[in-house]
Amino acid sequence: MISEKKQRVGVLGAGQLALMLAEAADSLGVSVVCAGQPGDCAGQVAEVVRVDLDDAREVAAFADSVDLVTIESENIHAEVLQGLNLYPNARAVGIAQDRLIEKQFFQACGIGTAPFAQVDSLEDLQRAAESIGLPAILKTRRMGYDGKGQVRLHSVEQAAEAWTEVGGVPCILEGRVSFSAEVSLIAARGRGGEIVFYPLVENVHEDGILRVSRAPFVDGDLQRLAEQYMRSVLEKLEYIGVLAIEFFVREDVLLANEMAPRVHNSGHWTIEGAATSQFANHLRAICGMELGSTQSRPTVLLNCIGSMPREEETAKYAGLARHDYGKEGRPGRKVGHLTFSAEDVASIEVWRQRLEAEA
Ligand code: AMP
Repeated sequence: MISEKKQRVGVLGAGQLALMLAEAADSLGVSVVCAGQPGDCAGQVAEVVRVDLDDAREVAAFADSVDLVTIESENIHAEVLQGLNLYPNARAVGIAQDRLIEKQFFQACGIGTAPFAQVDSLEDLQRAAESIGLPAILKTRRMGYDGKGQVRLHSVEQAAEAWTEVGGVPCILEGRVSFSAEVSLIAARGRGGEIVFYPLVENVHEDGILRVSRAPFVDGDLQRLAEQYMRSVLEKLEYIGVLAIEFFVREDVLLANEMAPRVHNSGHWTIEGAATSQFANHLRAICGMELGSTQSRPTVLLNCIGSMPREEETAKYAGLARHDYGKEGRPGRKVGHLTFSAEDVASIEVWRQRLEAEA
């Protein structure tokens, strides 16, 4: 009998995204090895190799031990990524890790964004507040996630305080968008250039952290527009793997907020809600396999932030999927999520309310 060697995918990072990639890898004949630290949560299901992700030599040695490398966070220094057999490619990751370059890139793709200006000094900030108008949000160009590295600005008098609060690092000032909804689109592009799209998802954030995702966000015109934007981004970047783009909805317009060059929290519902999860499709794409169907059922996802609800509470409901990442509880930390899939969108709304009451 011929036994083919399993492809070894190395994930830079060993948090919950790596954990769920490793879970999906099992049925694909792929093995996932994670670069992280002892005790990282992916260690519950996958091998975790101790690697300092800031150290280019350690990362290169890890990359040599696997067939290809992917990421679970875009906040890895661009220099560390150079020369790796990396999917998605380092250019895509580099663009996504800098809010200024990312917004300029969206505009080059013909995609609208909130008004923004580069801010490298307090004087820049004061000028930008005049030109963009207030209220606005000062965001660090790098290392921002879950609302971190952001300061709301309501008056020019607050500029000095805001500049100190972000630590005087390179930033953008972004005009505050009054949106009717926040949505995200997740897609996967394979090595042959084929693309599959999931339905748009509506996202609700609390304190800058994703709380609820509801799929689908039913709007045929916006779905088509989002897919057109996504295709343009994927093709310009020669992207391989799963990409998420977050948008603000303002009437019939989509304004891109940011993109994530990886599997994304607003796609966790696909584990139960879609024929192929985002995790399986990411591995399929980067390993050169055929992409799986994105056919899906209405599904709601609730993030568990700070702590998990008691098991007795969630076990009461048949059909409720509980994902506990096995992480220590801490305020503001995503420690797990709950998912419920149904036949119709109306039941999803009932479930959203029920889950929120539980949490
Ligand atoms: P971000 O880290 O850029 O995704 O921001 C976190 C959350 O803050 C977003 O999901 C929005 O809810 C809110 N937010 C960020 N930028 C803006 C903006 N320009 N206008 C209005 N709300 C925003």
